[in-house]
Amino acid sequence: MRLILLGPPGAGKGTQSEAISATFGIPHISTGDIFRANVAGETPLGKEAQGYMSRGELVPDELVNRMVADRLRQDDAETGFLLDGYPRTVGQAFTLAGMVAMLDASIDAVLHFKVDLEELESRIAKRQEEEGRDDDSAEVFERRMREYRDQTTDLIPHYAGIGLLVDIDAVGTIEEVRERVLAACREAADE
Ligand code: AMP
Repeated sequence: MRLILLGPPGAGKGTQSEAISATFGIPHISTGDIFRANVAGETPLGKEAQGYMSRGELVPDELVNRMVADRLRQDDAETGFLLDGYPRTVGQAFTLAGMVAMLDASIDAVLHFKVDLEELESRIAKRQEEEGRDDDSAEVFERRMREYRDQTTDLIPHYAGIGLLVDIDAVGTIEEVRERVLAACREAADE
């Protein structure tokens, strides 16, 4: 099964990924997590990405695409994967389509997590308290939301147009949302 999670920062994509990954036995590939690990490890990739991340801007497509291409070539991604936070631009979506075609595979579904802005702001404030991510500060969060609106929301009509988009009501308890997400995944697997 090959899935994409799409939604604004704080929509709960990372939280729900664990259950999807465990249920369907597919690796959870979060580009944000990979970047954070590279920043922490002070790798060349981390050094290139750090400035963009701390400002709440998207890292340039070229850098992200290369990183994802490398990750998808690893053995554990051969029969499926869950992409969380990628693609985030239409350019990335086209590049991903090329990578998937090269694997002679296809994307099964794009789960679109829907949450209103007020709810997102309170979730992000809570996450900053708990995890201390510097890109969750109010100012940087606003920038990340703007990037989402300006660059990522174009993916909604893009994936709807090719019949892959599945809307998920992402407001509710973690368990409620998990049930909706797993039901959507099962349906995608059956199709
Ligand atoms: P996330 O944890 O998914 O919110 O990602 C944290 C940060 O990593 C983002 O604000 C971007 O700076 C960068 N990032 C993660 N994924 C991508 C992507 N697909 N394209 C560009 N930048 C990304």
